[in-house]
Amino acid sequence: MNLSPHFTFAELTCSQLAVRRGIDNTPPAPAIERLRLLCLHVLEPVRDRFGPFSPSSGYRSPSLNRLLGSKDNSQHCKGEAADFEIPGIANIEVARWIAGALDFDQLILEFYSPTDPAAGWVHCSYKAVGNRKEILTIGKTGSRFGLPMI
Ligand SMILES: [Zn+2]
Repeated sequence: MNLSPHFTFAELTCSQLAVRRGIDNTPPAPAIERLRLLCLHVLEPVRDRFGPFSPSSGYRSPSLNRLLGSKDNSQHCKGEAADFEIPGIANIEVARWIAGALDFDQLILEFYSPTDPAAGWVHCSYKAVGNRKEILTIGKTGSRFGLPMI
């Protein structure tokens, strides 16, 4: 099943950890609809701009999310968020483009390192209504608003 022209239900829901631990990571219907919006409004435009990629994490059931050490209110549990990297493109470049070009709820450049542009990943969420366009950087030294000036 495709959620959008280039992104499948499987790649937005599959988790090796869930499989290994026997956790059912099937999203409820409302979360599937939110994943579809995320694909159409964020992942497809990013793919158009930078080329093919597959998100490393999309929907997470509450038990999988807890296992990953993430908070219960994570937008991954609602089907509103995905983590991704584009092969060969610095994560900060992807984050900057999203910040300027797309509508989104929260954009987080996670664990980026200026000395290793491939380090970390981009987290982006999208809501049907009320997108905040909040931009954060999260790293070893904590989190702050905005993207690094490099
Ligand atoms: Zn994330």
